[in-house]
Amino acid sequence: MAQRRTFHLFDVSVRRRIELSPSMLRFVFAGDCLAQARSFGPDQRIKIFFPNEAGELSVPRGEDWYARYRDQHEAQRAPMRTYTIRALREDACEMDVDFAVHGDAGPASRWALNARPGDRVVLMAPHASQDDSGGVEWQPPADVREVLLIADETALPAVAGILEALAAQAQPPKVRAYIEVPLRGDAVPLHGPRDMQVHWLPRAEHSDSIAVDYGARLVAAIRAAELAPARAHAQEPVLAEIDIDREILWEQAAATASDFYAWIAGEAGAVMAIRRHLVGERGFDKSAISFMGYWRKGRVLD
Ligand SMILES: Cc1cc2nc3c(=O)[nH]c(=O)nc-3n(C[C@H](O)[C@H](O)[C@H](O)COP(=O)(O)OP(=O)(O)OC[C@H]3O[C@@H](n4cnc5c(N)ncnc54)[C@H](O)[C@@H]3O)c2cc1C
Repeated sequence: MAQRRTFHLFDVSVRRRIELSPSMLRFVFAGDCLAQARSFGPDQRIKIFFPNEAGELSVPRGEDWYARYRDQHEAQRAPMRTYTIRALREDACEMDVDFAVHGDAGPASRWALNARPGDRVVLMAPHASQDDSGGVEWQPPADVREVLLIADETALPAVAGILEALAAQAQPPKVRAYIEVPLRGDAVPLHGPRDMQVHWLPRAEHSDSIAVDYGARLVAAIRAAELAPARAHAQEPVLAEIDIDREILWEQAAATASDFYAWIAGEAGAVMAIRRHLVGERGFDKSAISFMGYWRKGRVLD
């Protein structure tokens, strides 16, 4: 019987580096092996392994690779972070990944600031022979009529892909997107369905006044937004608190028929505040909303 493969390690190098906006860099990764990679949805997540501080990039292989990876000494281990496939061109053996750069405090952002064509990384991504769509949270009901997207710059690559996917539908839903970005110049044109409103929420106008109150503008904008009629609960919702400094905030909408669907991703504190507001205060049905903490201020998630 053919063995079913899951996420697979791909050795790739940078083919092109593209400055999309002041805070966003696109890397086009290339390697023959990418003919075997797959993306199952516009928010397909992958892991990227970066060279360690000595510049070495060695990721164990084989069935028990993860246990051996974890056993490696921290200085030797290749730091691993989560990213989104922005585009995959299997025929050209190319994959685009967009990086929101935030200085050199983290290995991924530091790598992106310095990386040039030829630099190597290892990607952990779905393999063509994989038969389930692991790593995709964008699962709107088939008959959805209204979509709400809330994101910061780390989830902008996924949102851009989601909007393109919706635009390609015969009868796309109405879409409202709230996107917080570091700078005004990061508000780039997005291709989406005709009935689309995008609210850009820059934290600063220019790079000389960078602001670090991550998510504050998103939370304020959602509080002030006249969102379509809240789907009231028959009874008071029970909203469990999540300790976002110990756990990962990751709640997926139930795949039930609904004309409304929301996809929310960004800094975990902001996503948590929006969850409290939409579900706890406005009575939105939690089962129609995916809440995802893509990163947590002051914490390293790998
Ligand atoms: C499913 C998923 C998909 C993702 N897709 C993308 C993507 O396509 N593009 C993308 O850019 N990011 C994406 N992210 C977010 C990315 O994984 C994190 O931002 C990651 O922490 C970056 O790693 P790092 O090594 O730069 O920083 P870390 O070493 O992880 O963190 C170092 C410090 O930087 C802070 N930090 C982390 N990210 C940011 C930030 N953006 N702004 C300010 N401070 C930050 C941390 O809180 C910590 O204090 C995704 C995350 C998830 C869970």
